[in-house]
Amino acid sequence: MHEIILKTIERICSYVPEERVLRDEPMSRHTSFRIGGPAAAFVTVNDEKELAAVMAAVTDAGAEHMMIGNGSNLLVSDEGYPGIMIKLGGDFETITRDADDPCIVRAGAAMLMSRVSAFLTENGLSGFEFASGIPGSIGGAVFMNAGAYGGEIRDVVRAVRVMDADGKNLRTLSNEEMQFSYRHSVAEDAGILILSAEMELKEDDPDEIAARVAELQFKRNSKQPVNYPSAGSTFKRPVGGYAAALIEQSGLKGYTAGGAQVSEKHSGFVINIGGASCEDVLAVMRHVRETVLSDSGILLEPEVRLINCSL
Ligand SMILES: Cc1cc2nc3c(=O)[nH]c(=O)nc-3n(C[C@H](O)[C@H](O)[C@H](O)COP(=O)(O)OP(=O)(O)OC[C@H]3O[C@@H](n4cnc5c(N)ncnc54)[C@H](O)[C@@H]3O)c2cc1C
Repeated sequence: MHEIILKTIERICSYVPEERVLRDEPMSRHTSFRIGGPAAAFVTVNDEKELAAVMAAVTDAGAEHMMIGNGSNLLVSDEGYPGIMIKLGGDFETITRDADDPCIVRAGAAMLMSRVSAFLTENGLSGFEFASGIPGSIGGAVFMNAGAYGGEIRDVVRAVRVMDADGKNLRTLSNEEMQFSYRHSVAEDAGILILSAEMELKEDDPDEIAARVAELQFKRNSKQPVNYPSAGSTFKRPVGGYAAALIEQSGLKGYTAGGAQVSEKHSGFVINIGGASCEDVLAVMRHVRETVLSDSGILLEPEVRLINCSL
């Protein structure tokens, strides 16, 4: 292991208890694709103080690092990740309703979308139904303005508590300051860390909200290969078309390399049909890109984030 990484891990251990600093941790345990070799270290931080100290340590040392949410949009190399993966837990897994305004809710970045949805449904708060089936965390969803069924996270987020990548400058950004666009926010450009999101919802009947959530879940389950590990839509929606339709038109449904396959159920998904390596997925993605480009002239861009690997 690189000397810088070793020294940084040592320093991190003076701020974060040893049991939350995992060495050579297989990333296949932390990604929805169930793919990825070991990260040099996988650190779970439980509060803002720990996070600030860890971010200062990696910044000072110039150590390679990245933040991980629920790992549902990542394809990690079979070689693993040579740096430090940082995940939020503890205080970042809370959700509270504002004492003065019952329509305002604050969710920590580590909260899963499904748990946020369950909380809002129970409390009779509507507006988040579209996001209930997205298998990511609030942090990951805000980072990339996740969306589904006509809604996007920017539609409900009022403000976001953030920290700079060096662990300094804790502040709150407004919805406008987040500069949300299609699967993108300012956090990506500026390397900003998302700590929590303040959302504004509307009061509604819990049973009606639950019915809408169930309907969208049914749609999702009937259209998407939810029984196989994947990272969701593999490619971004290109201008003037849909990746899934282009892939299907090129006759690539079911195209397989090793354990990776273009889903028969939804051609926008590359799935892990069993023991897929990162290289298998990349082989499928490369073939899909080349074939669609030669058939339609459209170059598909990956939506899945490629970690320590490339097309
Ligand atoms: C079956 C399936 C269905 C899916 N359906 C949808 C869908 O309908 N709509 C949709 O938009 N996506 C969908 N996805 C993709 C994925 O769930 C979303 O992109 C989700 O927002 C990723 O969140 P995450 O917490 O898993 O982030 P990760 O995959 O862990 O990370 C994604 C990026 O966010 C960054 N990040 C994560 N947390 C933070 C933080 N706190 N601060 C700063 N940066 C952070 C990471 O560094 C990384 O660059 C689907 C995925 C699967 C597997």
